[in-house]
Order: sequence, then C-alpha cells, then structure tokens
Amino acid sequence: MEEISSCPVCGHTHFTPFLTAKDHTVSKEQFQIVECKECGFVFTNPRPLQENLGKYYKSTAYVSHSDTSDGIINKLYKQVRKITLNQKYKLVKPYLENNNLLDIGSGAGAFLNTVYEKGVNAFGVEPDKETRESSIKKYGINVKEESALSEFDKDYFSVITMWHVLEHVPNLEERILEIKRILSPSGRLFVAVPNHTSFDANYYKEHWAAYDVPRHLYHFSPVTIRKLFNKHNMVLEQVIPMKFDSFYVSMLSEQYKNGKPNLLKGIISGIKSNFKAENDTYSSQIYVIKR
Ligand SMILES: [Zn+2]
Repeated sequence: MEEISSCPVCGHTHFTPFLTAKDHTVSKEQFQIVECKECGFVFTNPRPLQENLGKYYKSTAYVSHSDTSDGIINKLYKQVRKITLNQKYKLVKPYLENNNLLDIGSGAGAFLNTVYEKGVNAFGVEPDKETRESSIKKYGINVKEESALSEFDKDYFSVITMWHVLEHVPNLEERILEIKRILSPSGRLFVAVPNHTSFDANYYKEHWAAYDVPRHLYHFSPVTIRKLFNKHNMVLEQVIPMKFDSFYVSMLSEQYKNGKPNLLKGIISGIKSNFKAENDTYSSQIYVIKR
C-alpha cells in the first residue's frame, strides 16, 4: 500500500478520517478515505501501489470497463448509455474547432466510436491492454497506450474528454500538466466525475457506490475540482449535471447496503437526488474547463 503524505490538491499534510468503504466489486477489502484539513479534498488513503492497481479492475462486474450485459442494472446502464453518448457528443461539438478530439481512458470505446462515426478526428488513450485492443478490434478506432500522451503535439486538441476517469489517475499532477500542454488555447477539457457532496452520497454514506474504492483514488466536489484546476491556472467554466447517474449509483448503492438489489428504492433515491440537487450538487457532474 502507498500512504499519501501530502494533499494532491493543496500539498498540506494534515488529514482527518472521512469514512471507511468496502470494495464491493472485486476484492471485498476495506479502504480508508481521508479529508484534507486545509482544502477539504477527499481521497482514498492509503491506496494500493500503482503496480498493484490493475488487479482491482479484474472483474466482469466492473461495467465501466467491460461490455457484459448480465444483470438488470447493467442492461439499464447500456440503454441509458446510448442516450448519454449522444448528449456528450452534442456537448463537445461546439468546441471542435480543429476537429481533433482526445478521449483519455477510452475504455470499451463507445464514446470514441460515437464521435468517430460523426467524422471527428478522434484519438483515444486506454491503459488496459486487453480493453484497448478489444476496442480497436470492435470499432476500428485509434487508441493508444498512456505513454502516447507525451507524443502528441502542443495545442493539438480542441477537445479533451475524461468520462469518469480523473478519479482513477494515480499521477494527478503529471496528467493535468500533460493535458494543458496538448489542449489548444481556445479548447475545452470535459471532466465527468462523481460528486461526494450530492444527496445520494450523503444518503448512502459508506455504501455509496461511487466511492468505488480503491479504483476511485479521489472523491471530488465542485469546490475541490475548482481548486485543483485553478492551481494550474485553468478555469472551471461550467458545471453540467448527469441526471441518469443518480439512478445508476442509487440502485448499486441499495445493493451494497442491503446485500440485494431494490430497484424501487434505488429509483426513488435517484429521483430525490435530482430533485434536491442545487446548481452543482448532482450525483455526477461534467466540469467544463478552459486552459
Ligand atoms: Zn488539501
């Protein structure tokens, strides 16, 4: 395990325990989550060593990275995904100035394929070899390993997307600097992450499915996202709700909390979460960031 001694956002060294959560999908191990006393950043600490993180992704239940369709929640997830993929394309479209888009953590390749089919010059980066190769085979898309990030020209991309990816990145600092280098001056970065200050996070507490330890190394809020990017002189321009995520996360959380699925309770909690959300307190949100 790796103990993080200075806050990944502000560098301070004093943390308070936030909660202890269980890895429900792969290892069933418990992990501690701490909160920085200085800036309020919440992160998994200690966390598995980088070379051991891979084994925590090895499960067919881990839908974000696999394409299996067993289970009702997964079936719903895939239906909703069709809708959200098009919404994401509509969102990035106005910013595709030079038509070059990079999707970091392209996973099974569904988003990359959506934009590729619309004629976008689309590149993907995916660290998992098996996932990367199967996405290339399935869609014929251009996906490279993570090390390729340093090979792209400065200012090359007018759009960079990270759909539920930033919370998985071990070297946050290095990654943001790299993104800043390859993003064009008038381009936009789209970062989708869960929000631990949402209604469903507060309601389910340690059972909240989007803590997803230890795969989620960081647990962002609008405040800490702003602080993180401000540190790199990047500006948070807009916060966009992901209204389907509250349902998916609530249904999974019900299962984690009670050991069995409860679709109705999950749906009710999902509705409540969206209903009670203010401007930026949805279950998951897309942050639009400018260089
Ligand atoms: Zn801090």
